[in-house]
Amino acid sequence: MLIDLHTHSTASDGTDAPQEVMAQAAAAGLDVVALTDHDTTIGWSAAAQAALEHGIDLIPGMEISCTAHGVSVHLLSYLHDPNFEPLLRELTHARESRRSRARRIVDRLAADMPLTWDDVAGVVADGATVGRPHIADAMVARGIVADRGEAFTRYLHNGSRYYASHYAIDVLDAVRLVRLAGGVPVIAHPFAALRGRVVSDDVIEEMAAAGLVGIEAHHLDHTAEAARHAEELGATLGLVVTGSSDFHGDGKPNRLADRTTRPEALERILSQATGTAPILGRSG
Ligand code: AMP
Ligand code: FE
Ligand code: FE
Ligand code: ZN
Repeated sequence: MLIDLHTHSTASDGTDAPQEVMAQAAAAGLDVVALTDHDTTIGWSAAAQAALEHGIDLIPGMEISCTAHGVSVHLLSYLHDPNFEPLLRELTHARESRRSRARRIVDRLAADMPLTWDDVAGVVADGATVGRPHIADAMVARGIVADRGEAFTRYLHNGSRYYASHYAIDVLDAVRLVRLAGGVPVIAHPFAALRGRVVSDDVIEEMAAAGLVGIEAHHLDHTAEAARHAEELGATLGLVVTGSSDFHGDGKPNRLADRTTRPEALERILSQATGTAPILGRSG
């Protein structure tokens, strides 16, 4: 059983449409894949149809942008009810704030280089969640940088003078809302220190008390030491330990199935979900 529970499509900052992610997941030999776009579920229906066509199981999911006292935290949610209003309100707020924040970043960049908001709007799929990777793609199209990696290193990283932040829900509130929506919350890449500041173990302990179910220990952005620490913390707190690729298509070096989750861990996730059923393409 090959299980990858963290991927992105053009519904957010991945470079492949949801149905293409499913096709590639099947081609990579995955049995189960989760689609976890940032702050949206608009990719679910196209992914579900493709999962049935390609004979692969789909876990509908999402990656929620959160904050813990100013530190950015990403919370994966699996199998929640996508129509649960209190969660929907938060996601709408986050997506709108992401859009205006992207405009602020582009305004700042435009003072120093030939880049317009139209360039960025042109690379965002209809209804997709806007992120810095879209600004990066517009910079690539303009010939300003070679790829997303260079755009982040030079202009888009958290400490850049062009940087602007966006609204994000408090991470404890997010954990509670996901549970109320029947979903299963798993903290994404908690110790990916290269991206910026990361949370302390205390925050993860508070999240566990609030209803957190799992911790993503195995991730390309974790050192071996970080992965081991996440596994140990997960065991101490009784959390499900997962591993996943965080695939973004051509936007990142992460390849599908370069990290995976054990079947026992997936079983525990499935047993706690009540919001949405998984799409069982393998049995079809
Ligand atoms: P944002 O959601 O706008 O805050 O941008 C963060 C997103 O940018 C993350 O979800 C990553 O997918 C992506 N990202 C961060 N650093 C890099 C990088 N060096 N190269 C490519 N993508 C990146
Ligand atoms: Fe992303
Ligand atoms: Fe993330
Ligand atoms: Zn992600």
